[in-house]
Amino acid sequence: AEARSNRAAVQATNDDASASKLSCVKKGYMKDDYVHLFVKRPVRRSPIINRGYFSRWAAFRQLLSQFLESSQAKKQIVSLGAGFDTTYFQLLDEGKGPDLYVELDFKEVTSKKAAVIENSSQLRDKLGPNASISVENGQVLSDHYKLLPVDLRDIPKLRDVISFAEMDPSLPTFIIAECVLIYLDPDSSRAIVNWASKTFPTAAFFLYEQIHPDDAFGHQMIRNLETRGCALLSIDASPTLLAKERLFLDNGWQRAVAWDMLKVYGSFVNTQEKRRIERLELFDEFEEWHMMQEHYCVTYAVNDAMGIFGDFGFS
Ligand code: SAM
Repeated sequence: AEARSNRAAVQATNDDASASKLSCVKKGYMKDDYVHLFVKRPVRRSPIINRGYFSRWAAFRQLLSQFLESSQAKKQIVSLGAGFDTTYFQLLDEGKGPDLYVELDFKEVTSKKAAVIENSSQLRDKLGPNASISVENGQVLSDHYKLLPVDLRDIPKLRDVISFAEMDPSLPTFIIAECVLIYLDPDSSRAIVNWASKTFPTAAFFLYEQIHPDDAFGHQMIRNLETRGCALLSIDASPTLLAKERLFLDNGWQRAVAWDMLKVYGSFVNTQEKRRIERLELFDEFEEWHMMQEHYCVTYAVNDAMGIFGDFGFS
């Protein structure tokens, strides 16, 4: 019963993420014509939360663009614990759809996502005439997009799902884990990172999640989640930037870089974009902003068998 309630609570964090993204979209931080389809009760987030989600989105999209532009080869993307993320549909609108985009999550979540896709011609029409949608199985299959249920902690099943999705291990692959691995036990997190490295010799792994559980802000962050029934099970295993890099380097990845979001926002996020979004709302919580951003990080790791990622990364 304990495990089941944690599972439901972790799934609920996905509703939160969608609501926050919609809050940003409504204020003009970023464009997403689809996230509103997944939010039942829109909410307005504070400027600091909006800016935090923007910085996460911007860092993610900049690294993803680098990946998509890294060579002429066909490319594939797999999102672990994708939730209601709409990146695939955005990429299509931008003319940047990859050869294959695979999304994985618990069946409870993929069923809900499949139902929204089925009921929205805006989404359904994007999948092409060969698409098949099963709400019951939590499954969407189409030529370039696949949504499939799996418990990520079950590596043999994960392998099966990846081959069922017809991912080609030899192609350049972008692996996304946004606020997902941190909710798993440390052994499962490591196993997934290790599996990804062994499976995809030419790949970039994008990880975004919490760090520094040990100071006052960190305690509060953990308490907030705990009151909702969630635990950051992996945070003690990699609580620092160095430990995040080690998570990858110890599990087969050639190169790994971890920056906290203060540095990512300061030194990586596009300057013009920052100038634009910093005018959107009155913002005076600088101390709180700094503390919050120090508690989130982006880690990317690269395996470069094809030698196409020379320029990939923060600098
Ligand atoms: N990545 C999405 C985003 O950034 O908007 C969703 C993030 S949400 C905080 C975490 C997601 O991970 C949830 O949708 C949850 O169901 C999924 N998840 C957590 N543990 C999982 C597991 N063991 N197997 C599959 N999905 C899992």
